[in-house]
Order: sequence, then structure tokens, then C-alpha cells
Amino acid sequence: MGTGVTRSTTRAIYDFIWRHEPATKNEIAAALGISLPTVSKYLTYFAREGLIDVGSKLSSGARGGRIPIGYVCRDNGRFAIGLDVTAERTRCVVLNVRGEVLANRRTPRAYSRDDDYFRFLGEEVAAVVAESGIEERRILGVAIGVPGLIDEASGVLYFGRVIDNLGLSIADFGRYIPYSSRLVHDSEAAGFAEFWERPTDTNAYYISLGKSVGGSFHQRAASHRGERGLTSEVGHMRIHPRGRLCYCGRYGCMDPYCNSRVLAASGDGSVGLFFERLRSGESAAVRAWDDYTSDLAIVIHNVRVMFGSRIILGGDVGAKCGPDLEPLWRKVDDLSFLPSDSRSFLRACTVTEYPIALGSALHVVDQFRNDPDRFALPRSRTRGA
Ligand SMILES: [Zn+2]
Repeated sequence: MGTGVTRSTTRAIYDFIWRHEPATKNEIAAALGISLPTVSKYLTYFAREGLIDVGSKLSSGARGGRIPIGYVCRDNGRFAIGLDVTAERTRCVVLNVRGEVLANRRTPRAYSRDDDYFRFLGEEVAAVVAESGIEERRILGVAIGVPGLIDEASGVLYFGRVIDNLGLSIADFGRYIPYSSRLVHDSEAAGFAEFWERPTDTNAYYISLGKSVGGSFHQRAASHRGERGLTSEVGHMRIHPRGRLCYCGRYGCMDPYCNSRVLAASGDGSVGLFFERLRSGESAAVRAWDDYTSDLAIVIHNVRVMFGSRIILGGDVGAKCGPDLEPLWRKVDDLSFLPSDSRSFLRACTVTEYPIALGSALHVVDQFRNDPDRFALPRSRTRGA
């Protein structure tokens, strides 16, 4: 932070430029009630940090007169890394502050709870950074999307059965990553990516229908995690007393009825093939979809009456089911105690490519946008830059 540069003003000016680019000095001064010399001081600071550029020169609209200069946020002013860790592979992306993907890497590797694996994560991050060709000192940090519940106070996974990560923290996953790192719940990250795409949505519950089921509740792009992240555990909503055994050890949870493997079983192990068969009218697939939507409708109805929000279907199933929602909408409406048109609040996700890695990195970008000063370049290196 430069002399006389305050955190809140930095944030306000950067945010104003972001929303109004190209923004002129006069516009910034008038909108934020700051003097022109003060605005100049901050613009000098941003330029030194490599966060803004001079955009197109605006037409003055009048002959003579000086042409005002418009400032824009620099796309590649900073970078964020998102890593998605699953049982059988990792996915790693590099984004710039606009959320544009600069590099994207998928590597098959069985998860294992040991130092070799954590070293591998460090190597994956190093590899994706090298592929992207970005300047390392402009890296904001790394967010790692993992299944399991994270205790916010301690950062320790206190429920982790999808992969064996109970009791681990960023001290383990980030052991070989030389940047500021944090863990994020995988379905929260995926839901966050949806909101980034559609910032006009005011609220939504995101249900991730992957190999296991998770969820996240978002209000204006902020996640509402509940006590110890519990709102993400929709997979353990009980829908059939004495029903199928869940991986949590209880019976009748939603997960064993609505995870993507249930459908993949009718598609030779592939969710994509399942939907092809469904669309060609194969009876086994039609029956499986009928059962699946009946169970999912119960969950959606329950979520709807609890949160009163939009509901977005994500994960492997959400990425594919968009054209086949008709029976689900009908069943949800049939369960409603009020006249209901679930088309108006229930939809499939729009972010279908690596939403967890993407959303994890977007979390980091969002932190930066909310507090650019926290991510100032090391002072010694910025001199003369
Ligand atoms: Zn369960």
C-alpha cells in the first residue's frame, strides 16, 4: 500500500473502474466524492501495481478541449489458480482477473492420502503455471476444491468420506504449492462459477449431481454455508426411510438415489451415453430416468420450501440433463402445495466444463476484487517497475 493510499479507497476506485471502464479521472472523482489530485495518486498506484491500463481515448465531444483519458482494469493484472481434486484425476486452471482461462490441465491420478500425492499436486500447479506463461509474482493464490466439510475456524476437513481426506487441511494439500493457498468445498466452488456467469441471479441452491451429491446455497454470489458448512450436505437429505445404504453409513439418503452413477449404470458407466439412450427411447434408460426424477423431485421440493430460492442442477447430470427436464418439472409441480411452475425456478447449469476448478479460481479472483490492496506486489520488486 502506497503512502496515503487507503484500503477502502483502493477498493472503491478499482471497483468503479471495473464497472465503468473506460473511466476518466473526472468520472471517478465525481462518483466517489474524491478530489482530482487524490484520484491521480491512486491511479499512479494502480499503474505501478500493473492493475490498470490507459484504455481508448474518449472523444471529447467538443472541438478543442483536452481529450479525457479513460482507464481500464488490466486483464492480466493478476492471476488465480483453481485445482479440483477427485478420486481419479486432478484438474487445474489458470484464470486472469476477468475469469478468462489461460491454461487448463487434466491429469489422471488416483487420489491417495500421502506425501507423494501432495507433491504431485505441487507439480501440477507448477506445470499449469508454466503452460500459461504468466508472471509468477502476479499470482494471487490457489484454491483447491475438495469433497468434504471444512471447519472454517480451523480449516480442517471434519467430514471426508468421498475421498479419504478426514482431518487434512491446506497444510497437507498445499504442502508443495509455493503460493497462498486455501481449500474450498467442491460444490460451493461449482455453484460460485454459475453465479459468476449470471450475476443477475439473486439467490440459488446449487445441487451438484456428480459421483456423489453435494450442494451450496448462494445469495448474491456470497455463499451461505450454515454452521460448519452444513448447507452443502443435501446429499444426506433422507428421502426413503430404511432405503438404500449411503456411503455415510446411514440408509435412505438422497445420494445413493441421485448420484450420477445411478444413471451411468444404464449407460455402460457413462452419463453421456445414458442420455443418448434416453433420447433414443431405450426402455431401461427411460425407466431409470423416471425413477431418478421421482427421487430428485422430492429433494427439489424440500430445498424449495426451505430456501425459497432458484435451484440449479449441476455436476455430471446437470451438465447433460437440460433437454430432459420436462418430467422433473412436472413431478416437482405435483409435489407443491401451492400452484407451481417449476420451470421458473429450476434449471440445469450453464457452466458445464470443469466448474469446480473454475469456481475455485473464481473464488480467488473475487477475494482480489473485494480487496485489491491485500494482493499488492512485494514492495521491493515493484520499485522502478
Ligand atoms: Zn448419507
